[in-house]
Amino acid sequence: MPKYHIWTIGCQMNKADSDHVAGFLERAGFHPAPSEEEADFVLVNSCVVRDSAEQKVRNKLTSLKGLKKRRPDTTIAVTGCLVDSRMEALAGEFPWVDLFFQPQQWEVLSNWADAGGLPQPKSKECDLKSFTPVSAYVPIVHGCNSFCSYCIVPYRRGRERSRTPEDIRQHVESLVQRGAREVTLLGQNVGSYGKNLPGRPDLADLLAEINTVQGLLRIRFLTQHPRDMSHRLIEAMASLDKVCESISLPIQAGDDAILKAMRRGYTTEQYEETVARLRSSIPQIAISSDIIVGFPNETHEQFQKTIELLHRLRFDRVHVARYSPRPGTLASRTLPDNVPDEEKWRRRREADAVHQAIAAEINARLVGQSIEVLVEGRKKDKWWGRSRGDKLVFLSGEGHLEGQLVTVKIDKATAWALQGQQVMFRAFPDSGLFPRRRNPDPPSTRLA
Ligand code: SAH
Ligand code: SF4
Repeated sequence: MPKYHIWTIGCQMNKADSDHVAGFLERAGFHPAPSEEEADFVLVNSCVVRDSAEQKVRNKLTSLKGLKKRRPDTTIAVTGCLVDSRMEALAGEFPWVDLFFQPQQWEVLSNWADAGGLPQPKSKECDLKSFTPVSAYVPIVHGCNSFCSYCIVPYRRGRERSRTPEDIRQHVESLVQRGAREVTLLGQNVGSYGKNLPGRPDLADLLAEINTVQGLLRIRFLTQHPRDMSHRLIEAMASLDKVCESISLPIQAGDDAILKAMRRGYTTEQYEETVARLRSSIPQIAISSDIIVGFPNETHEQFQKTIELLHRLRFDRVHVARYSPRPGTLASRTLPDNVPDEEKWRRRREADAVHQAIAAEINARLVGQSIEVLVEGRKKDKWWGRSRGDKLVFLSGEGHLEGQLVTVKIDKATAWALQGQQVMFRAFPDSGLFPRRRNPDPPSTRLA
C-alpha cells in the first residue's frame, strides 16, 4: 500500500489545501506515513508570505535532495505560494522535484496522477480511512483583491473567487456527517465573500445558512479585513447561536501614515470604532490581530503608537511579524527596507512582551469560571479543545471526550492556554463510519 506524507507551513488556507490533497490521496488508496522517509509520495505545501517562511521552505526542499538520492522511487511534489507561474526557474533550482503546481490547481495534480505520476495503489480499500477533524477548515473565498502594499498573497493566489452557498453548505454537511462539530470558514478576506456571485450573498447571509446545518455546533471564520466589517455582519454574529464569539481582525499598525503606506484602507480611529461596536454588541467577544513591525520608514514614535494601541485595545491574541520585502509587491518596489534587522527584532520582542502581559491578565480572569469547551483531541494525559472565544484549554476528564462539548472549570491560566477540570458534558453520537485521525496535536501555544 503506497504511503504519503504532507509537510505544511503557513496559513489555515494551506492547512485546508493539505487536507484536500490528503483526502484525494486516501481516496486513491494511499495511507498516511509519519515521516517523509517512509513515504512514496511527499508533498511540500509552501508559504512565502515572509522571508523567514520562504527560507524554511527552501531548506526543506534542499533536504529532500538527499531523500531522492537515497530513495529515487519517492515522488516529490510542491504546491503553495512558492509556486508562481515561472515554474521552469523552480524546476531548474530543485531538479529533484517531480511536480510543481500552483495553489488549488487540483486539475494539474489529478491529470498528472492519471498520467501515471503517482505510484499506483493495488486496491482502494482504505477509502473509509479519510479522517475528519472535530474542527474542520472550509475555504469559502479563494484569492485576494486587496493588494496591501507589503503582501505577496494576491500575486500567488490570484483574484477573489467565492464558492456558492449551496456548495459550501454541502461541504459542511458532509463534514458533519463524518464527525466534524465545528467549521472555520476561510478566506484571505472573508468580508468580501460573495461579491462575484449572482445575487451577491454576503458573509452574514452565508453564516445564517450554515447556522441551520443540523449536528454542527460551532462556526468560526477568518480572516476579516477591518475595512469590510459591516453592521450586518456584527448583527449576524450577535444573533446566530452557532457563530462563536471570536474574530480575527488584523490591524497591522497603530499609526495612520504607516497604514496608508500599507494601503490598508482604514485609519486607527475607524478600526477602534469597529472594535467598540463589536464589543458593545457581543460583550464576550475575543479579538485577535496581526501586527507588522519595522515597515519601511517606521519611526520609533510610530512604533510606539502601535504599542499604545495594544494597551488600549487589549487583544486576546496578537501575531507580531517583522516586515520583510516580498518580490513584486508595491512596498518592495517603491519603499526602502530601512529599519535595521536588529531594531525589527527589538520591536517585535517589545510588542510580544506587551501583548503577553495583557493576554495573561485576560486569561487570569477566567480562573474559577466554568466555560464550554469543544474537545478536539488528547495529548499525553490531558484532553484538549477550545472555548467559544478560541482559547486553548487542557482538561482532565472521564471517558472518551473527543467531539464532545464539555463544561470545564478553569483552575490555571497562562498567556497561551487554560487548564481545568471537566464538570459536565453533552454527548453527541458519532456515526463511527469514518474514523477520525486519533489524538491530533493541539495548535502551537506560542504566539509566533
Ligand atoms: N489576509 C490577512 C492576512 C494574510 S497574510 C489580512 O488581511 O490581514 C498573514 C499575515 O502575515 C498578515 O496579517 C501580516 O501581518 C503578515 N505579513 C504579510 N506580508 C508580510 C510581509 N511582507 N512582511 C511581514 N509580515 C507580513
Ligand atoms: Fe494580503 Fe492584504 Fe489580501 Fe490580507 S487583505 S491577503 S494582507 S493583500
